[in-house]
Amino acid sequence: MNLAIFLDRDGTINEEMGYINHIDRFMLMPGAAAAIRSINESGLKAVVVTNQSGAARGYFPEELIDQVHRKMSRLLEEEGAFLDGIYTCTHAPPSKGKSGGCGCRQPKIGLMKQAGQELNLDLQESYVVGDRLKDVEMARNAGAKAVLVLTGYGRGELGFLGPARKVEPDFVAEDVAEAVDWILAHASSETARAKVPKKPQRSRRAQRKANVELAEIDRLSNKIIGLAIETHRQLGPGLLESAYQQSLAYEFSKNNIPFELEKKIPVIYKSVNIDCAYRADMVVDNKILLELKSVDRLLPIHEAQVLTYLKLSGLKLGLLINFNVTLLKRGIRRIIL
Ligand SMILES: [Mg+2]
Repeated sequence: MNLAIFLDRDGTINEEMGYINHIDRFMLMPGAAAAIRSINESGLKAVVVTNQSGAARGYFPEELIDQVHRKMSRLLEEEGAFLDGIYTCTHAPPSKGKSGGCGCRQPKIGLMKQAGQELNLDLQESYVVGDRLKDVEMARNAGAKAVLVLTGYGRGELGFLGPARKVEPDFVAEDVAEAVDWILAHASSETARAKVPKKPQRSRRAQRKANVELAEIDRLSNKIIGLAIETHRQLGPGLLESAYQQSLAYEFSKNNIPFELEKKIPVIYKSVNIDCAYRADMVVDNKILLELKSVDRLLPIHEAQVLTYLKLSGLKLGLLINFNVTLLKRGIRRIIL
């Protein structure tokens, strides 16, 4: 089955202008085409889902919706990006105080289900990116993960409506580019986990305990990746490792995540502790080992270093993060012992 990133349209990939009642009012957000191209290159499906009730309300003819979508596809194509599907709800919402209406107007999941069937998608492993809490609600209704972007209505919805609606996205991103970065780093770590060879069968109780531990470590590693993306967003590529290390440490402190810097890794040989000056850049909550780099590209020797540290320290998960890349997702390796 395929995974998808469902993208809301207005306020997420094009500028929020109210109703797009003329083709000239459709303008792509800066960075949106590049973000969609990254999705295309990752092998995930890029799918737009959008509520467009303006025609049903009599504000413009229905053909305009298709015209706008042709313009959107053309603008994306000019930057080497494409959409695997565009799914639109054209219905008006039910009148005030009345329930019912169509099954596809977000936060209902009719459009996601239709895309799921047509593109053979695993909805629960897929992601929704949008600027409204209804986009997050739709993700929750489908069992998918949600990223709220702060463009369009995002900043206001998060600040003023979020606390009352009790809807929590998995990640809040400045814009669609950052949302896609986070998802691709997250999805690749999930894929890496899926590729780990299966261990011999354990008792059900031991398995349950192991699952809980794995889920905790997963949650923690996702938080770390989110904070690393934040650090990269602030600093960009091209600095010394130590600058990233200190800034990431600041993010951990701000988020109350315990960590140790330059943690000594012992080498026990014939029961003797040999001080060989191995030090992990960071160990987070005594669970995850971090090796930070600022190099042109990660090499097998860097992965071997993390593997050695994991074996010697008894930790199970290592994150190798190269900050000297344009898109941080290309610099993240998740290494599981
Ligand atoms: Mg929107």
